[in-house]
Amino acid sequence: MHNKLSRRDAIKLLGIGAGTVFLPSKSEAKSKLSMPTSHKRVNIVIVGGGTGGMIASARVRRAAPNANITLIAPNSMHIYQPGQVFVAAGLYMQTDIRAKTSQLLEDNIKWIQDEVTVFEPDKNFVQTAKHGKIGYDYLIVALGIEYNYEAIDGLSSNNIGQNGIASIYLNDMKKGVSKAGITTNIWMHSIQEDALQKSVKVLYTQPDTPIKGVGADLDILFLSNDYFKGNGGSKSGDVSNNIQNIFATPNSSLFPFKEFDNIIQKRVKKARNIVPLFGHKMIAIDTQKKSAIFKDRTGKEVQKSYDYIHITPPMQAPKVFSDSPLAYKDGKYKGYMDVNPKTLQHNRYKNVFGIGDILGIPLAKTGGSAQVQAVVIQDNLVAAIENKKFPQEYNGYTVSPVKLKYGKVLLAEFNSKKTLPTFWLDPYKPRWIWWELDLHFMRYVYFTLMMRGMM
Ligand SMILES: Cc1cc2nc3c(=O)[nH]c(=O)nc-3n(C[C@H](O)[C@H](O)[C@H](O)COP(=O)(O)OP(=O)(O)OC[C@H]3O[C@@H](n4cnc5c(N)ncnc54)[C@H](O)[C@@H]3O)c2cc1C
Repeated sequence: MHNKLSRRDAIKLLGIGAGTVFLPSKSEAKSKLSMPTSHKRVNIVIVGGGTGGMIASARVRRAAPNANITLIAPNSMHIYQPGQVFVAAGLYMQTDIRAKTSQLLEDNIKWIQDEVTVFEPDKNFVQTAKHGKIGYDYLIVALGIEYNYEAIDGLSSNNIGQNGIASIYLNDMKKGVSKAGITTNIWMHSIQEDALQKSVKVLYTQPDTPIKGVGADLDILFLSNDYFKGNGGSKSGDVSNNIQNIFATPNSSLFPFKEFDNIIQKRVKKARNIVPLFGHKMIAIDTQKKSAIFKDRTGKEVQKSYDYIHITPPMQAPKVFSDSPLAYKDGKYKGYMDVNPKTLQHNRYKNVFGIGDILGIPLAKTGGSAQVQAVVIQDNLVAAIENKKFPQEYNGYTVSPVKLKYGKVLLAEFNSKKTLPTFWLDPYKPRWIWWELDLHFMRYVYFTLMMRGMM
């Protein structure tokens, strides 16, 4: 296919790409042109002020101009979570990835800075911690996903950043703070310094739960190792011969889509100092002795010592949600939202829609997914208000720009069945252009266009 890309073509592509990178579906284009609206005076409540909640609120604001729209979210700061990886890589400042919620929020949306403590969908209200009951005609849930570091015996989120432990995921979306990038950057430098003197064993772990931002831990594996080779602005030369990386996962692959996994595994083989360890789930850690215990596929406990460890924590739906009638009570999506995967309407409460990581659907725990879902919600919510047929269906779009080294990204866009490339280029080829797009354009696009529901 089109494997050669001239710089001229690339610049043209970026011009288009900045506006379309997370917009693969034809239905998206239809929505942009038709933009269904409702002029009814209904009360719409959106819970959660992260990626999904903010995009949905901006889009619904335009689509339902006479509606009273209320956002309930506790975070005064909004974090651009994909940017945590670039902070770790030493390419963004901490201030590059955050913005005030008040500055991102569209006009004419009432913001209640609070958290929901109880969902009462049978009575059409949510209970908040400080503002009592808030009623609604329509509800959009955008609560995200919660970390559960404590599910690993001996570990708590307080351990991250100490005794050789890093986690690119570490943030508190309710408080709007993220320490992941800085602590991981310091961690990379410590490994490099140690490797100048002695051999170093670095362990990476994954949970057996759904995770958001799939591939972010692979980013840290590849970028760290590239840095240890002397790239990415490193001043210490190549110390990678002194470093052994073990990537332990309960899965039988490194990435949830076969063809992209093949490419990633080839990179791992080529690196020589990365060893994948499949079928291993970390269950306990001794942070002082630097020892991790895994359960392998046969149920046997396996101990691994390390000098440094990167942990992707077990993740789960926020408890306030999983306890509610809106959640699946069992099955593989237990705790997540019981939603129609295409219309994004709740399967039982027809005035409730969901967006983002909270959804009980395959894959799709990415900001790019939430961005595509927002279009579906916008049009389907309006259709629900107007008692019309739903015009939109979500296609399961998931995106992961896997950073294979400084300056090279594999732009994996897919759903559970097929690739969904935004561009006409061969999706299986890692490219510098995707690196440029991810590093220089996406943050800008996120804060200035996506947050305003402009793309
Ligand atoms: C390290 C990392 C790298 C990533 N890389 C990428 C990437 O390259 N590309 C990509 O597309 N995605 C990436 N993601 C994933 C992406 O950031 C998430 O999928 C996306 O932010 C999900 O949006 P959300 O609205 O569902 O949840 P969030 O953005 O997490 O927002 C959840 C919101 O809910 C609020 N909330 C929580 N509890 C309550 C409550 N009780 N009451 C009211 N509000 C509440 C929080 O305050 C927060 O505002 C990455 C994530 C991480 C961590």
